[in-house]
Amino acid sequence: MSDARDAVAKNRHTYELEETGFNEVPKKWRKFYRYWEGVGDVLAPNEVVCPVCKVVIRSKRELRPGDKVYCMPCMSRMVVVKAADGSLEAEVIF
Ligand SMILES: [Zn+2]
Repeated sequence: MSDARDAVAKNRHTYELEETGFNEVPKKWRKFYRYWEGVGDVLAPNEVVCPVCKVVIRSKRELRPGDKVYCMPCMSRMVVVKAADGSLEAEVIF
């Protein structure tokens, strides 16, 4: 039911996104991506790394397994999955 879906949506933390210097996509979309800074970089609950081009994809809401994300820099469609260590990662949808 849509009521249940609304409840799930409301329980998610939402994020205000700001540009972080990523400039490989049109300006309108830049805030949805950032560069992965390598060892020591920590992903927020609304972020997942693109396994293809290693760019960090950012969402306006907390990500959950099953969410679909799109990487504009490499044009890959992905689904968010739970990794063995409990963190979230993206799997490319072919
Ligand atoms: Zn990518």
